Amino acid sequence: MRLSRYFLPLLKETPSEAQIVSHRLMLRCGMLRQEAAGIYAWLPLGLRVLKKIEQIVREEMDRAGAVELLMPTLQLADLWRESGRYDDYGAEMLRIKDRHERELLYGPTNEEMVTEIFRASVKSYKDLPKNLYHIQWKFRDEQRPRFGVMRGREFLMKDAYSFDLDEEAGRRAYNRMFASYLRIFSRMGLKAIPMRAETGPIGGDLSHEFHILAETGESGVFCDRRVLELPIPPEDVDYDSDLSGIVKQWTTLYAATEDVHDAARYEAEVAPADRMEARGIEVGQVFFFGDKYSRPMKAFVTGPDGVDRPAQMGSYGVGVSRLLGAIIEASHDDAGCIWPDAVAPFGVAIINLRPGDAAVDEACAGAYAALTKAGKEPLLDDTDGRVGAKFAAMDLIGLPWQLIIGPKGLADGVVELKRRATGERQTLSLEAALKAIC
Ligand code: ATP
Ligand code: MG
Ligand code: MG
Ligand code: MG
Repeated sequence: MRLSRYFLPLLKETPSEAQIVSHRLMLRCGMLRQEAAGIYAWLPLGLRVLKKIEQIVREEMDRAGAVELLMPTLQLADLWRESGRYDDYGAEMLRIKDRHERELLYGPTNEEMVTEIFRASVKSYKDLPKNLYHIQWKFRDEQRPRFGVMRGREFLMKDAYSFDLDEEAGRRAYNRMFASYLRIFSRMGLKAIPMRAETGPIGGDLSHEFHILAETGESGVFCDRRVLELPIPPEDVDYDSDLSGIVKQWTTLYAATEDVHDAARYEAEVAPADRMEARGIEVGQVFFFGDKYSRPMKAFVTGPDGVDRPAQMGSYGVGVSRLLGAIIEASHDDAGCIWPDAVAPFGVAIINLRPGDAAVDEACAGAYAALTKAGKEPLLDDTDGRVGAKFAAMDLIGLPWQLIIGPKGLADGVVELKRRATGERQTLSLEAALKAIC
């Protein structure tokens, strides 16, 4: 992408409505624009990161055996009457009427709809296990939408739903998602801690929330700091094997949100030096709730014994759009964002210090072609402007690499390469710089 053709409306001033650094940076970087309270337009740079995050989530869901579909944002109220949640859900649910006075709602979650899809075709234990997921916009009419994408009203969620014949198999499905979540957040450069948590309006008795520690987090969390050192399941983890060891390892050390915190247990189990009381951002939650939806909605499957029973279900959410904020909270400095390679909107900024200078333009074009070919998704700053302002803009948007090409260096056969995360600069030949990036 050439910056001269791109749409990157950077803000010079810090917007006064933004209270936390991720919100400020997303606005200043031209990633996001608020269209109504808690409702945002995703501008090109923000959309690129959102897609990267979405893709990591998708790859890891697929790896863990979940199957992607896409359910609509609008749902019939009658479906929610079947589970009894239509009246229970309260003011967070956006209720809508169509021209025929039919009652609809903008989905805040999809347990009912996916159960309806499942029951329409799956009747036998032979078709189990199943795990269906989608990545779709949700709407929750939050009392206090705030902190930008952290608590939007319209937000992007990945939600998966597992169906099994009995509780034991349901717990295996839960363990698969648990392990998969460890991989998802780790691939984004995040340290997420699974915490014992309340189940809230989804229901059930087994649940963990995944939290990123950050001062600006909305939840209080208590944990044993040694949980930060635990190993992440490898890429080739066998999802058909027994994963209870991984879950056990990650849930033995104390970690709980303030809602379920047990001070006596915490003090008994965690040595004073290992105690950590912090703030957390909830980036995902997994639930096992058995037949809470399948029973009232009559999603029955026939077992090998010929007996029908309600499917055992779990649901598993990831806050895809919230993750942008969480990643920035975890990775920035005074100059701007520092994107981990895996989710960076572009892999490298090529900064042309003298657009119009034939030699510099040619070197930039060559680098651009080579980096594009290598899949590094370069952003070429080919705009006129003060050099200082160009550097500041590229630091602000925080791509992992900056390749700086100017007439003086080129005359000596060199360019400059800067690693955004460390600030380390190297002077080297263009060829060597390209090699270092690729
Ligand atoms: P919170 O406690 O922050 O209100 P929740 O527990 O109500 O979240 P879940 O029903 O568990 O949310 O939804 C799954 C995931 O969706 C959450 O872990 C979170 O990452 C994300 N999420 C929930 N509400 C919002 C929101 N208003 N804006 C952005 N992401 C959200
Ligand atoms: Mg909520
Ligand atoms: Mg919550
Ligand atoms: Mg939750």
